[in-house]
Amino acid sequence: MSQRMTIGCACGHTRLEVAGSPILVSECLCNSCRAAAARLAKLPNARSMLTAYDATPTAEYRKDRVGIVAGAESLREFRLKPEAGSRRIIATCCNTPVFLEMKGAHWLSLYLHLWPEETRPKATLRTMTGDLPDASSLPADIPNLKTHTVSFYMKLLGAWIAMGFRNPKITTAGTIDA
Ligand SMILES: [Zn+2]
Ligand SMILES: [Zn+2]
Repeated sequence: MSQRMTIGCACGHTRLEVAGSPILVSECLCNSCRAAAARLAKLPNARSMLTAYDATPTAEYRKDRVGIVAGAESLREFRLKPEAGSRRIIATCCNTPVFLEMKGAHWLSLYLHLWPEETRPKATLRTMTGDLPDASSLPADIPNLKTHTVSFYMKLLGAWIAMGFRNPKITTAGTIDA
């Protein structure tokens, strides 16, 4: 549980330390993730974070198990709409999306491209495939779930209980438009 690992952006300037295992590892097919990925991929030097079948792979980590150890000044927040509750945090040194923070959430969805391929966590399920116009082209290697399931939320709730229902605040140096 106390195993620590350093992950980071494409250029290496922004680094995060994660402790222990993620709450869960999944791929999201929802409209918001796909729209955000498409817009963020247009930033200078950015690479798309989508898989070949348009999924966004993330590892859900308790906020108190994620630390920003370098490049905090490069972090900017991106919202799909100004009034959106959820925000995506971008390392502007190389325009690498770093994580998604849902409004009020006690976890962060860290984008899996932050890990070197050899140590990258493997997704165990796909969620929100009901948002796709045609989900038939998805690989069948892991479960393809139409929405978020009860067990998905139970895992997140279990982590929050373990955190004593705290919700650490994360600050960034500003916003970015894409
Ligand atoms: Zn960078
Ligand atoms: Zn999503």
